[in-house]
Amino acid sequence: MKLLEDRIKKDGQVLPGDVLKVDNFLNHQVDPDLMFAMGEEFARLFQDEKITKVLTVESSGIAPAILTGLQLHVPVVFARKHKSLTLVNDLYTSTVYSYTKKVSNEISISKRFLDADDRVLIIDDFLANGQAVMGLIDICEQAQAKIEGVGIVIEKTFQRGHELIAEHGIRLESLAKIAALEDGKVVFEKQNN
Ligand code: 5GP
Repeated sequence: MKLLEDRIKKDGQVLPGDVLKVDNFLNHQVDPDLMFAMGEEFARLFQDEKITKVLTVESSGIAPAILTGLQLHVPVVFARKHKSLTLVNDLYTSTVYSYTKKVSNEISISKRFLDADDRVLIIDDFLANGQAVMGLIDICEQAQAKIEGVGIVIEKTFQRGHELIAEHGIRLESLAKIAALEDGKVVFEKQNN
C-alpha cells in the first residue's frame, strides 16, 4: 500500500534489534485518515470471506482493527493483556511472548465474544516472529471459530511469523512488507500499491 510505505519512509525510525518505530502514526499518536485507508484496504481484501468478527490484541492493533470492522460492519474484539475485575471468568487465554517488551503476557478474550459460528479476521500492527498472531489463532481454535485470514499493517518478512501462519494454512495479507532494516534504512520487499 503506497500511502503506508510513503509514511514509513517519511516517519519510520529504525531502532536496534530490528525494531521499526512508527509511533507518530500507529503506535502512540494515531493518524485516523491513514487508519481509515488501511481499514478500507483490509475490508476490500477480505470482502468475500463473510467475516463476522475482527480480532486483535491491545493496544496497537485496536486502531486498524476498528477501522476494518467499521467497513466490514462487524464487531471488533481485542484480547486483553491484563485481567481486570470485570474480566475474570469464562475466558479463552493464551500466552504470548512480546517481541518489543521481551516478556510473556497472558492474553484473554471473554467466551461471550467468540464462538464456533464466527468467521474471524485477525488484524495486528506488526508481524515479526508471529507470537501475537499465534496467540490469537490459539484462542480462535479454543473457541472453534473459523479463521478466514490475517491482516497485518507492517510485516517484517525477514522474520518468521509468515512461516508459522502458512503452516496453519491461513491466508496472510500485509499492507507493507519490509525485507530488511539496514543501516538505519527501511528496505521494502515490493511496492504493494
Ligand atoms: P510477533 O509477535 O510477531 O513477534 O511481534 C508482533 C508484535 O510485536 C506486534 O503486535 C507489535 O506490537 C510488536 N512488534 C514487533 N516488531 C515490531 C517493530 O519492529 N516495531 C514495533 N513498533 N512493534 C513491533
